[in-house]
Amino acid sequence: MAFFQDLGKKITEGVQDASKKTTELIEVNKLKSSISSEKDAINATKIQMGDKIFAMFNAGEAIPDNMTDDVQAIVARLEKITELEGKIEEIRLASEAEKATRAAASAAAPAGTGATKFCTGCGAPLAEGTVFCGKCGKKQE
Ligand SMILES: [Zn+2]
Repeated sequence: MAFFQDLGKKITEGVQDASKKTTELIEVNKLKSSISSEKDAINATKIQMGDKIFAMFNAGEAIPDNMTDDVQAIVARLEKITELEGKIEEIRLASEAEKATRAAASAAAPAGTGATKFCTGCGAPLAEGTVFCGKCGKKQE
């Protein structure tokens, strides 16, 4: 009988241990989550500090010497962004010009010609299989 009592006691202790471990684990995870929140807040503040330094540089104010390289790197990247945005604008404008040319060409084409192919250079309607545009001479691809 003592054996079963001991066994029962051991099982109870085991369950209590497991329960304690679970509680500890939950507590540790809560603490880790708090640490993570604090770290996020620190990083957000660091970004704000950088923004302030950059704003000072933009305003022509003196910034710490050891931040000059970082600020110059940002300036270079901003120039790169402007350049990339310019390329997007070029594509947009070219696309609009092409659309306008097509619209003009299809408006100029006599109704019912059934042309489905248009010159990639001038937008003139072309017969299927045409290699060179009869209007502007551009080779079709
Ligand atoms: Zn053409």
